[in-house]
Amino acid sequence: MKFVSRAEWGAQPPKQDWAYVESTLGVKVHYEGTEVPADLVNHHEWCAGRVRDIQAAHMANLSEGWIDVAYNAIICPHSYVFEGRGLHHETGANGNQPLNRAHYGICGMVGSSGLTQPTDALLGGLRDAIEWLQQEGGAGPEIKGHRDGYATDCPGDPLYAWVQAGAPRPGGGGARPGGGGGVVGGGGSGSSSAPPWPGEDLSLRDPMLHDDNVRRWQQRMADRGWSITVDGWYGQQSRSVCEQFQQDSTAHGWPLVVDGVVGPATWRASWERPVS
Ligand SMILES: [Zn+2]
Ligand SMILES: [Zn+2]
Repeated sequence: MKFVSRAEWGAQPPKQDWAYVESTLGVKVHYEGTEVPADLVNHHEWCAGRVRDIQAAHMANLSEGWIDVAYNAIICPHSYVFEGRGLHHETGANGNQPLNRAHYGICGMVGSSGLTQPTDALLGGLRDAIEWLQQEGGAGPEIKGHRDGYATDCPGDPLYAWVQAGAPRPGGGGARPGGGGGVVGGGGSGSSSAPPWPGEDLSLRDPMLHDDNVRRWQQRMADRGWSITVDGWYGQQSRSVCEQFQQDSTAHGWPLVVDGVVGPATWRASWERPVS
């Protein structure tokens, strides 16, 4: 686990001592619920400052009366686990005191706009934090979302789908989040697991690339509703569709480099990004 202690991220001390909890039924997952910059995936150097801002906002929230950042941990898109209230301290995030006593609360750095899709690294970090709380904090096996038992959208559909799938560690043994259904892509609205990366960039070149990988990607884009001829030739039209898809993805919280080349990230997004 890539752990960042309170001292390392520059936490303020809590306003008063945390309430001790010997054990909990498990862990509830949260998200930020606001706009998170889509570009955050490329800027881990922003993450500690974001955690400080979240703590400051919580401690300034007089209606909630929080003594500290509400979460036991905050996990960034680069898989770092920022210590919040930490082990054996009651969370303030779950909605009311019985809910706070029953489960720890951890927050993934995705929002309701901008960056809305958890990276694999974020899911891995959430998994790390859950196991840390289970192994050292007396957390039981339950893994739930904030919306379980409380009226809220939190943790958003993509993270909630991952929670409902059992919060699988991404990548391990091919266990993509959400299994075969690609549910992490957001409610299963047309998304599915990508086929294996074919190992070659699909790009406009001379002589023109023509093979079954191009055909497969074109068929996928046609299935997604793009106007594209499925002929196996990566020509101007494919390049243009690719660029538009990359721009559209970036604008919808799934950042891709806009270069008109189907590389590994664009290949994966072509299948796993929800159809919008
Ligand atoms: Zn929440
Ligand atoms: Zn980060």
